[in-house]
Amino acid sequence: MAFCPCARREPGASLLGVVQPGGRVKFLPSGLIVDEATARLDRPSEVQFRYSSACREGSCLHWRARRCTALDEVRDHLAPFALTDIASCSIRPQCRWHFQAGDAACAVCPLVSGELMALEDGIAPPEEVLVPISIGRR
Ligand code: SF4
Repeated sequence: MAFCPCARREPGASLLGVVQPGGRVKFLPSGLIVDEATARLDRPSEVQFRYSSACREGSCLHWRARRCTALDEVRDHLAPFALTDIASCSIRPQCRWHFQAGDAACAVCPLVSGELMALEDGIAPPEEVLVPISIGRR
């Protein structure tokens, strides 16, 4: 099973990382699971946090031609800012983005704050976000 590294906050999702001041994500150890109570919090938290969950493949609007096109969009926008140090995260062996692009995905992934999904819900991204990205609904 592959994991989406930019999932919604929903029961069963894992807390993957925290967006630091400046916009870069600090990845966390595995094991922090979103429960029902956390998922129902009034204020969506995808802007400050990153979540992962099982890749939905054909059930996700980003899935086209057997690949995640959200990663393609992220790389298009963030390539000029790509990092040279590859951050360690908890899902690399099963990460959909890493399957598709290897370390090139990891070079831009920490620059992606959760506004990828939150923008779709009308939540304003923080000022620190380097490049706002608008993508379709899952
Ligand atoms: S750092 Fe790499 S392996 Fe980890 S979630 Fe991001 S793209 Fe996936």
